[in-house]
Amino acid sequence: MDELVGIISEIKGFLRLQADLGAREYPMEVASLLPSGPRSLKELEQEALACKRCRLWETRNKVVFGAGNPNADLVLVGEAPGGEEDRQGIPFVGRAGLLLTKILKSIHFEREEVFIANVLKCRPPENRDPLADEVVACEPFLVEQIVAIKPKIICALGGFAARTLLKLGPSTSIGSLRGVVHNYHGVPLVATYHPAYLLRSPNKKRDTWEDVKFLRRLYEKLTDTEGQ
Ligand code: URA
Repeated sequence: MDELVGIISEIKGFLRLQADLGAREYPMEVASLLPSGPRSLKELEQEALACKRCRLWETRNKVVFGAGNPNADLVLVGEAPGGEEDRQGIPFVGRAGLLLTKILKSIHFEREEVFIANVLKCRPPENRDPLADEVVACEPFLVEQIVAIKPKIICALGGFAARTLLKLGPSTSIGSLRGVVHNYHGVPLVATYHPAYLLRSPNKKRDTWEDVKFLRRLYEKLTDTEGQ
């Protein structure tokens, strides 16, 4: 019960902040990031599949645009495709992906119901960290995806995705971003550990379970049309 009261007060605080910032049309403020009008996911995908905005096109096998429900209320954002994703052109299908699918199932989501994307659409060679210029080149695709999908909530998987979306410096740890509702241009955003990190640090699974229960409760609140 205490937890529920906490969540409701988080959402109220978030909405108050929105109003203070002058947001009227919740949550479309993110559209103001676009230099031109919104485009459909199909249009974006076509452009991404031929993209040469950064050097990664030279080494990729497949562009990993993102997958799932184009009208999803929940969008999950990871870092960048790994080897298996690069082979298949689908996000989160390697070992970390299998864990993500299990985590989603544990809170009663099927992969097809949500939309899964990454900050980078192409695999960095040897799975090295994304470079700043690659993020600058690729992030606009993610922004346009979010505008097209209009999710009610975003979940950042891991510190890299959370820091990129929230424009935070490299010293901000994922641990410090968990358990609160952030504001991604009008869209509530929560953050949790990256599934690949969980494979290396299984002791973080308990915290992740708390995070995803929190995510599910927020999702219920934000998609509950009767209670709004
Ligand atoms: N890690 C990510 O961040 N994204 C994927 O798609 C796969 C692994």
